[in-house]
Amino acid sequence: TPVLFWFRRDLRLADHPGLVACQAARVPVIPVFILDPQTEALGAAAKWRLGLAIASFRERLQAIGSDLILRRGPAKETLLELLEETGACEVHWSRNYTPDAIERDQEVKTALKRAGRHALSHPGHTLIEPWAVSPAASDHFRVYSPYWRAFRTIEIAPVVPEIEALPAPALWPRSDNLAGWRLDAAMNRGAEVVARYACVGEQAALERFAAFLDEPWSAYRNGRDRLDLAATSLLSENLTYGEISPRTIWHGVCASGGDQEQGGETFLKELVWREFSYHLLYHTPHITQRNWRAEWNAFPWRGDNEQAARWRKGLTGEPVIDAAMRQMYVTGTMHNRARMLVASYLTKHLMTHWKIGMDWFAQCLIDWDPAANALGWQWVAGSGPDAAPFFRVFNPATQAEKFDPDAVYRRRYVAELAGDNPGEAALAYFDACPRHWSLDPEQKYPEAPLIELKRGRERALEAYQHYVVKN
Ligand code: FAD
Repeated sequence: TPVLFWFRRDLRLADHPGLVACQAARVPVIPVFILDPQTEALGAAAKWRLGLAIASFRERLQAIGSDLILRRGPAKETLLELLEETGACEVHWSRNYTPDAIERDQEVKTALKRAGRHALSHPGHTLIEPWAVSPAASDHFRVYSPYWRAFRTIEIAPVVPEIEALPAPALWPRSDNLAGWRLDAAMNRGAEVVARYACVGEQAALERFAAFLDEPWSAYRNGRDRLDLAATSLLSENLTYGEISPRTIWHGVCASGGDQEQGGETFLKELVWREFSYHLLYHTPHITQRNWRAEWNAFPWRGDNEQAARWRKGLTGEPVIDAAMRQMYVTGTMHNRARMLVASYLTKHLMTHWKIGMDWFAQCLIDWDPAANALGWQWVAGSGPDAAPFFRVFNPATQAEKFDPDAVYRRRYVAELAGDNPGEAALAYFDACPRHWSLDPEQKYPEAPLIELKRGRERALEAYQHYVVKN
């Protein structure tokens, strides 16, 4: 009898522990992707990008004699139906760790058991399970450095062999048509633009990684904070859909030689921030919803407001902030330092709640990751674990001088600052943003910034003194 493999964020054939386990059983495998309510709820850009990931993965499966069956509906009912239709008695999947996913998967497990069928979940989305390391006195770490030290003592399991053939069932069940899912519905304007920058599928992800490894590690170490350089791996886009495994990256880096000792280690530390974010998400799931530290609940952050709307549009009048917000619109991603700057500007200079920013990122990022996004926002806002102290307010102007010394990044994305001859990315912004914003390339850049930087900083610090320190 065949088994079902329920794919979610693991759209690859290399280093796939769950698929290897199925293959070892030498039974036909029916790969399935379900558009369930949780997947339906993804932000516009992530949902659109998921559609590309599914199409690419389906081709990859077809090339090894298999296929990907697409079904729409609640996961539990859909899987039970498929088991009935195919006569399969096992469902496998790779674990996810958001509270919603854990709850859904638990329900599926219980329902399958009740129906006399088996559910088997596998690792693979992270380097280690989020619960695998803990400090002596508690179940989870709150601070990154000791987490990293504990993490570094663990041996990361080797990658498992790539799947080269997957036995097909005698009869394939019916599949939905991917185009009919309209995963691009909310991206109707930006998709064409973002598609120029996206790097879709397992093969492309592996090539992207290989190209990154070809560069000297010193380029990463010295350039990773520079907004104007392309010194980072950009692999977050692929990691989030599982087009490459974190273990492939880890072992690839460890084997890369060169001046690996310095830059390679810096890169691994970044990769382990992703692990840390899953560690926190697992142990403190409220991180995606509420202030991680309750003492922040009294802080007078504003809800959505006119200034936040201008922040979303990239029209604050603060060039580096606007460049970053437009980069996200055009490319679907944003440089890490730029993410920190725009998050600080929104939560401190504009005194707007981090959730407003976090939700906007969830709409716009093609590398949206529930754990990294929540941790990133709470880290910058000051309300998270191991957060940047609130009183360390980034000054966008001095940050821009330091990390974009020749204003290349600002001109790359803000046409109004680019003189007579704005580049392709700057102009693409006007095609990528929603039509109802009615922006036009001839527009004038805001004459005055939304708030004077010194004044914004002082206002944030006063509120901090008043509401957080006292509480
Ligand atoms: P590289 O420097 O090449 O790093 C390699 C990998 O390490 C990344 O692909 C990523 O998986 C991981 N990584 C690096 N930095 C971090 C970090 N600070 N936290 C967690 N993992 C990290 N990352 C996302 O993947 N999705 C998000 O939705 C997301 N939202 C963020 C929101 C804010 C406010 C902030 C400050 C950060 C956010 N990050 C997010 C983390 C980080 O900005 C991105 O992972 C990074 O910019 C991806 O670029 P890269 O792949 O070139 O990184």
